[in-house]
Amino acid sequence: MDDTNRSRSEVTRPDRPSLTCILPAYNEGENLAHLVPRLTEYLTRFTDRIELLIVDDGSQDDTAAIATALADTYPVTLLQLSRNFGKEAALSAGIDHADGDVVLLMDADGQHPLEVVEQFFHYWHQGYDMVYGVRDNRDDESAGKRHLTNLFYRILSRSAEINIHPDAGDFRLLDRKVVLALRQLPERSRMMKGLYAWVGFSSKSVTFTVAPRLGGTSNFRLRHLSALALTGFTSFSSAPLRVWMLLGAGVSVLSLLYAFVIVLRTLMFGSDVPGWPTIAAGIAFLGGIQLFSVGILGEYIARIFSEVKARPLYLVGRRVSFRDRDNTVEG
Ligand code: UDP
Ligand code: MG
Repeated sequence: MDDTNRSRSEVTRPDRPSLTCILPAYNEGENLAHLVPRLTEYLTRFTDRIELLIVDDGSQDDTAAIATALADTYPVTLLQLSRNFGKEAALSAGIDHADGDVVLLMDADGQHPLEVVEQFFHYWHQGYDMVYGVRDNRDDESAGKRHLTNLFYRILSRSAEINIHPDAGDFRLLDRKVVLALRQLPERSRMMKGLYAWVGFSSKSVTFTVAPRLGGTSNFRLRHLSALALTGFTSFSSAPLRVWMLLGAGVSVLSLLYAFVIVLRTLMFGSDVPGWPTIAAGIAFLGGIQLFSVGILGEYIARIFSEVKARPLYLVGRRVSFRDRDNTVEG
C-alpha cells in the first residue's frame, strides 16, 4: 500500500529483537486477563525478550490488581497512573517507559487482532521503521461519526503540514528510533496520530478488520473525539488563525466599496432615511465573525497557556514489574 516516499533504512534488523508491548488500559481488568496469556504466547514467535507494559490509566475496576497478579506468571510490567489522564497520555507514558528494540502499541480490549502483528514484524524486518494498522471498514460506527471523521481528516490534510491516514490508529509497531523521536516531543496537548505522522520515518500500512470488544464498552464519546479533533487542528495547523485575516481583509474591502457607492448615491440622488436594515445586518454579521475569530484565538491561547504551565503529561503512582517483583517504586 502507500509507502512513504522516504526510502527504507538499509539497516539489518536483529533476528529476535527485544519487544515492549504497550497496552493502555482504562477499566479493562477482565479483558486483560483474557488477552495477556494469548498475547504472550503469540509474541514468542517473534522474540523471547518480551515485556507487556500495561499502563493503567486510573481505572476504577480491578485492572491494577489483575495486572499485578498477571506479573507473577507473565512478563508484565504495570505502570499505574495516579488518575485517568486519557489514552493519549497513557500511550505517552508507555512510550517513555518502553525500552525494547521494537515497541508494539495495542488496545487492551482485544479489538486489535493478533494475526496482524506477524505482518508488522515482516515489514519491520524489511527495514520499515513504523508499521501501522489501517482499518478496512468503519461499519461499527454510526454514519454521523463516519462523516464527521472524514470531514475532519479532509480539512486537516488540506490545512496542516502533515498527512494523516484517516483510517490509521494507534495499533502500530515502532522501531526504537521512532520511540526516541516521539519522546523528544514535549507538547501537552497531544494527538498521537498527528505526532506519528510528524516524526516521519519510513512507514508501511497494513489493513486489518477491527474485532469486537472482548467486554466492556468504548470510552470514547463524541465529546472526547471532538476535543481530540480540536487538538489535532490547533497543534498541526495555523490555518484557522489565517482564515480570519483573509476574511477580515475581504469584508473590509467590500465595506469600503459599499461606502463609496453610498457616497456616490447620496451625491447624485440625495439622502434617504431608510437603510437601517443594511446597517443592522452589517453589524450583526461583523459581530458574529469577530466573536468567532476571538474564540479561535482563545483556543490557541488556551493551548499556549497549558504548554507554558509545562505540567507533566501524566504522573506514575506505582510501578510493578515482573523483573523486580518485590521492588515496588512509589512516586
Ligand atoms: N483508554 C485509556 N484511557 C482512556 C480511555 C481509553 O487508556 O481514558 C484505553 C482503553 O482501555 C483501550 C484503548 O484505550 O485499551 C482504546 O479505548 P476504547 O476501546 O474505549 O476506544 P475505541 O476502541 O472505541 O476507539
Ligand atoms: Mg476499543
